[in-house]
Amino acid sequence: MAQLNVLQRTETLHEARWWEPEANGRVHCYLCPRHCHINPGQAGFCFIRVNEGGKLYSLGYGAPAALQVDPIEKKPLNHFLPGTRAFSMGTAGCNMGCFFCQNWDISKSRHDQVHSQEVPPADVPLLAMQHGCDSLAFTYNEPTIWGEYVIDICREAKKYGLKTVMVSNGYITREAFHDIYDHIDAANIDLKAFTETFYGKITLTHLQPVLETLQWLKNETNVWFEITHLMIPTLNDDPAETRKLAEWILTHLGPDVPLHFTAFHPDFKLQDKPRTPPETLHRARQIALEVGLHYVYEGNIYSDGAHTSCPRCGTLLIKRSWHDVTANYLKQGACPQCALVIPGVWDKAEGNSKSTVHEPSAKYSHLNL
Ligand code: SF4
Repeated sequence: MAQLNVLQRTETLHEARWWEPEANGRVHCYLCPRHCHINPGQAGFCFIRVNEGGKLYSLGYGAPAALQVDPIEKKPLNHFLPGTRAFSMGTAGCNMGCFFCQNWDISKSRHDQVHSQEVPPADVPLLAMQHGCDSLAFTYNEPTIWGEYVIDICREAKKYGLKTVMVSNGYITREAFHDIYDHIDAANIDLKAFTETFYGKITLTHLQPVLETLQWLKNETNVWFEITHLMIPTLNDDPAETRKLAEWILTHLGPDVPLHFTAFHPDFKLQDKPRTPPETLHRARQIALEVGLHYVYEGNIYSDGAHTSCPRCGTLLIKRSWHDVTANYLKQGACPQCALVIPGVWDKAEGNSKSTVHEPSAKYSHLNL
């Protein structure tokens, strides 16, 4: 009878990828560097990959807990289709344990604790186009843990020329990396600190796998990617650490990968730290520019550090106010003054075969997007 119940349950579940069976019905998930070994009836650390009857299933597949239309600058991506809208989605769960999580209501929830909606992959690009979006963003919680759904959505998105974006903590294994990122056009990767102590104590993970992901992106893909570093007072805002982080980026990724220093606000289990003072972001930006990075931004505050300027002649190229683009002076992706080509993806028509906008099913008409 128990076996029958398992069969009935699994008929509606999506079998996961990136796992192998072990003794006594256990399974090993190797999607992320946690390498969970999961007993029957239990879930991995991320809550949404479950062992049912000796097989691993993804509870996140087709079940977003958050759907929203955001400016692409909110991801944040400043060199990727500026001024466009991204159809943004996330599920429950996460593979990190960040005490400061700013989306903890879904990332720290089990699948059955959030209100999720059934949205098959084929419907996602239709919803995105209905809402005037040029890209789909997998965001809010960690999209790696629902990689099967991400891949199938990407396949559908390409039929309409929509771009795809991962907003990720970069905590993924070598085995899964290309399976997912070969379908992705752009990414923002959180580099949450530059010490193993911070990663170990505050995120319950490790730094090195994130650095490896950044190097794979640089050396092995055509994915346009930017880096975000959330600065938390006293935990990861030491100027010496900022310098080391910027030097590592310069040495291993080059000067043209945009780096965003963003402001923290107290949330989840980190209520005892104050908001990040703007001066901290100004100082960090100055250090990274001194090191030699070309595109360094300040986020979550109103600041001139949100603008893009030409690293050669200093001409203002893109003016922003928070997540709004208020002026874009680029000429075919280059500085109008000195003609320096500015790295990024500037042309939304590039590779875009979108011609027909289909109406999604009326079953989504209640969504408040
Ligand atoms: S994806 Fe989830 S289940 Fe798989 S190893 Fe990572 S935390 Fe564990």
